[in-house]
Amino acid sequence: MPKSNRITAYADIPAKAWNDWKWQLDNRLTTVEDVVRVLNPSQQVIDGMKAVSAQFKLSITPYYANLIDMQSAHCPIRAQAIPSIVEADIVESDMLDPLEEDRDSPVPGLTHRYPDRVLLLITDVCSMYCRHCTRRRLVGQEDRTFDPTFFQQAIDYIANHPEIRDVIISGGDPLMVSNKKLEHVLKSLRAISHVEIIRIGSRLPVVLPMRITPSLIKMMRKYHPIYISTHFNHVKEITPESAKACTMLADGGFPINNQTVLLRGVNDCPHVIKQLNQKLLTIRVRPYYLYQCDLSKGISHFRTSLGRGIQIIEALRGHTSGLAVPTFVVDLPGGGGKVPVMPNYMITRSDDKAVLRNYEGAITVYQEPHRWESICGHDPACEQQRYKSKSGPAMLLARPHTILEPQKRKLNADEKG
Ligand SMILES: *Cc1c(COP(=O)(O)O)cnc(C)c1O
Ligand code: SF4
Repeated sequence: MPKSNRITAYADIPAKAWNDWKWQLDNRLTTVEDVVRVLNPSQQVIDGMKAVSAQFKLSITPYYANLIDMQSAHCPIRAQAIPSIVEADIVESDMLDPLEEDRDSPVPGLTHRYPDRVLLLITDVCSMYCRHCTRRRLVGQEDRTFDPTFFQQAIDYIANHPEIRDVIISGGDPLMVSNKKLEHVLKSLRAISHVEIIRIGSRLPVVLPMRITPSLIKMMRKYHPIYISTHFNHVKEITPESAKACTMLADGGFPINNQTVLLRGVNDCPHVIKQLNQKLLTIRVRPYYLYQCDLSKGISHFRTSLGRGIQIIEALRGHTSGLAVPTFVVDLPGGGGKVPVMPNYMITRSDDKAVLRNYEGAITVYQEPHRWESICGHDPACEQQRYKSKSGPAMLLARPHTILEPQKRKLNADEKG
């Protein structure tokens, strides 16, 4: 960033320091005093920060702080970074672990909820603590970095479960660990032959883009196929720096998928999401999920209705590139997992006809074929495979005469077995 784009407090920092991720980490704003010194907020904001900062950790990188417009009460960067008095409002529906990630955890740091993929948390440290974080119960609470004992247990678990073909490395922020430790993680996973793909979920391309260095890329490339999941929430976060980080990742052969959290006051508007997603495509980032905000503690002010999310998808699908349309998902409280929620495009149907409407509201009759039984389904090998791999309603459709009986709260564990 040219110095001229910097706020006064940072105007004199030499470019070499500013562009060094270690400098950025060493100079994070972690106290109310830091924020006051750099951003000069109003007394009201200061009081709010003081009231909640003991409860939920504060940290902002200088790079991200520099994007904040303190003059605007509606700055989307500010809302994500600066603690606010409303975090003290704990509402009845708030939960510490709304997704029950801990329940589905066979060993510490590993969540195995879906049949063929796991979530592996390798650190609870982030460079910035997002005010809307769903894992607030974990991140930053102890600043527990990489724990070799738990990590080895997780690796053993994955090695002993051949059905796991996809490992999502998350945290905290997994790119907060050193290249050396990250390489150890990647190497350990690649030593397991049934792990087909690795995903790294990191917000650093957005809040600390300097972390994406040539040496990081060079190291990670050795362990392909690796996918990156990142977390842009607003077009203001697409800067020359974050664009460069994504370009380096894309050039390194890492497909980048974005997971936006739908946040009231930040991006709860069709125009804002459309602008964000179109701009993301220009830096080769594909919008993947739009998340309904979870029921974590102290973030109810960020939640909006499911209806708002549907309205956003309605405004995207058909109106702009399909590549710019993410799947809107709600991660069900209680460990129910992700459920996609969409506008209704099918109006009604019979045996031989479906009535569909398009994004413009035009209604069309689609004639079903006269025969639709699957030809490939007559292959006994295929039949076997279908019986083995399906559970839930997908199994009801695949098998004749099956009744689905959920077992009390043990459902997930049984599905996995
Ligand atoms: C989101 C999530 C995944 C990955 O889900 P995809 O739909 O495959 O991206 C895996 N495990 C857990 C626990 C998750 O929350
Ligand atoms: S980067 Fe992710 S894990 Fe870290 S504070 Fe933000 S939302 Fe939470």
